[in-house]
Amino acid sequence: MKPTNPPEKRLSGLPVAPGIAIGPLHEAPESPLVISSKKPKASEIPSELARLEDAVSRSRAQLHKLKSRLTALPKDSQAEIAPLLDVYLHMLGPTRLLRGIKLRVQSGEHGAEAATQSEAEAQAEAILAQPGGDKSSRQRRADEVREVARRLIRNLTRQPFRSFEVLPQGSVLAAQSLRPAEAALIQPTRFAGIVTAEGGLDGHTAVMLRALGLPAVLGVSGLLEKATTGGLVIVDGDSGEIILNPSRASLDAARKKLSAQTRARRALSRLQHLPAQTRCGAQVELQANLELPFELPLIAASGARGIGLLRSEFMFMNRELAPDEETQTRIYRDIVEAMDGDPVTIRLLDWGSDKDVEALARFVPDNPESNPALGLRGIRLLLRHEALLETQLAAILRAAAAGPVRIMMPMVSVAREVVETREAMRRVWRRLKSRRNLQLPEKPPPLGIMVETPAAALAAPLLARHAEFFAIGTNDLTMYTLAADRSLPADMKLYDPLEPAVLRLIHLTASFAAAAGIPVSICGELASRPTVVPLLLGLGIRQLSMNGNAVPLVKQAIRATTLLACEHLANAALAAPDAEAVREILARLQTTSPTVS
Ligand code: PEP
Ligand code: MG
Repeated sequence: MKPTNPPEKRLSGLPVAPGIAIGPLHEAPESPLVISSKKPKASEIPSELARLEDAVSRSRAQLHKLKSRLTALPKDSQAEIAPLLDVYLHMLGPTRLLRGIKLRVQSGEHGAEAATQSEAEAQAEAILAQPGGDKSSRQRRADEVREVARRLIRNLTRQPFRSFEVLPQGSVLAAQSLRPAEAALIQPTRFAGIVTAEGGLDGHTAVMLRALGLPAVLGVSGLLEKATTGGLVIVDGDSGEIILNPSRASLDAARKKLSAQTRARRALSRLQHLPAQTRCGAQVELQANLELPFELPLIAASGARGIGLLRSEFMFMNRELAPDEETQTRIYRDIVEAMDGDPVTIRLLDWGSDKDVEALARFVPDNPESNPALGLRGIRLLLRHEALLETQLAAILRAAAAGPVRIMMPMVSVAREVVETREAMRRVWRRLKSRRNLQLPEKPPPLGIMVETPAAALAAPLLARHAEFFAIGTNDLTMYTLAADRSLPADMKLYDPLEPAVLRLIHLTASFAAAAGIPVSICGELASRPTVVPLLLGLGIRQLSMNGNAVPLVKQAIRATTLLACEHLANAALAAPDAEAVREILARLQTTSPTVS
C-alpha cells in the first residue's frame, strides 16, 4: 500500500454485510514465521519427511485453488499471476529445492521447517550471487524460491498466513481476499468493518462475514493499490461504496447515516416479540443460521424461533485434528440447551470445494484437473469417510436428548445418498443404545436434506420418500443451476439468484414438498433479503432461515405484505425474462407497498 495520504477517493464493491463503518484502514499482516531449531532424532526422520510430503501436497492444493479462482480477476492481473503460480507449482515438483530440503532432513541436521528455510535461503543467495545477466530477474527468481519456502513452512507449522490480533482496535480490516477459515478467526469486537479486493456476494467468506455482523464490502478491485495504510475510510455495507480519505462533508454524511441506522435498529428491535405474519394473517416461521457459536446471544435477541441451519464446519476449521465424539457432543448440546426448546437443525459437515477444512485436507483428493465444486463435496465426501460421518451422527444423536434437533444433509443429488445416510444413522443409533449411561432422545431426530443442486430440486418427489424435510440452499442452487461460481464478482453478471431459472426450481421444490406433506424452508442468503422475501412467500415458502441480523428486517417485510400480493409478485417473476426484469418488478413493489406495520 502507498505510504502517503491521497485525496478522497470513492471505490465500489459488493455490499456484503449492512451498516456504516468509519475507521483507519489496516491490512492484516502476515503473522511471523516461528521455526524450531531442534534437530530430529534418527527415529524421527521418517516422520519429518512425511510431514514435508504432506506440506508439499497442501501447498500444491492451495496453489491449484488460487489458480482456479483467477478467472474472477481482470484479464491483465490473470496474465500476471497465472505464470507465477505455475512457477511455484513447478518448484513443488521434483526440483533441486525439494531435493535439497529432503537431504537436509535426512542428514539429521534439521527438522522439516528449518531444512526448508536454510535450503531456500542458500539457493536464493546462490541465485543472487550468479555473475552477469539481469539483476532484476535474479532477484525475481530468488524471491520465488523464498515465497515457495514460506508457503511450505506455513503448511508445516500450520501457522495461519495472517494474524488479526495485532491490528489497532476499531480499524477497518483490509485484505486482498479472505478465506472462510480466516474469516472465522476475526474477533468482531476488534474491528469497525471489513473490505476486500476479491470475493463474491454469496461466497462462503461473505456468509461468514455476515455472521460477524460487521459492515463489509467485498470485491473492491484495486483496493490495496489505491488505499493508504492507517488512512481513514468509510465503508458503506448497504451500497457497497467505500470512501478512502473522506472529506469533512463525506464524514458528516456517514455519521448522520450511522446514527439514523442505530435509531432504525432500535425501532426494529420492538418487532422482536411480534409474530412474523402477513397482513392477511399467514404465519411465517423465521429461524437463524449459525456459523460461529458467538452468534448465539444475537440469535436469541433477534426474534428468531430456533436455528434453521447450523453450519457445523466451524468445529473443523483452524485445527489440526477433527473434533472427537465427546467434543462435538458438548458443542451441539450447549447450542441446543441455549436455544431453550426452540428447534436446532444441525447440518452434517459440508466440506470440500471452497470450504477448505484444514483438519481434513488430506481426505480431499488433490486433482488439479477436476473442479472441486463438481466432485467430492458435502455428503459425497462424508459417505466415503464412514468414521467421520458416524462420529458426527453419534454426537448429534446424543445432543438431541437436550432438546428438539433435526439432522440435515448437505449437497444431496440422488436418493441413494439419503438411503445410505439413514442406514448409517440407524447403525449409530443401535450402537449408542447398547452403550450404558448415555442420554438419548426417545427416537432418532428427523433426517432431511438441503436442496442445493438442480438434481435434488427436479427429483424432489423421489427424495421426499426418504427425507423428512427440505431446506433450499439458494447459494449453491444458484451456482449449480447457472453454472456460475458463487464467489464471482457481481460485475461479471453470471451468478444471480433472481434468475427465473432459479426461482422456478424454488417454486418446484416448494410444490413437491407440499404434495409430499413435508416441511420446506429456504436457508440460503436469499432468505435474508427483505425485498425478496415477499417473492419467496409467493413461491410457496413459509419457513425462512437467515443470518440473525436480518431477522427483524425480514419480519418487517412480512408484516407489510399480503399473500395475495406475494402470489401476484411470484407469477410476474416466474414469467420474467431475466433477473434484471425480476429486480424491476421487486423495485416497483417497494414503491407501491405500505411500509412497517
Ligand atoms: C446454500 O448453499 O445456500 C447454503 C445454505 O449452504 P452453504 O452456503 O453453507 O453452502
Ligand atoms: Mg450450500
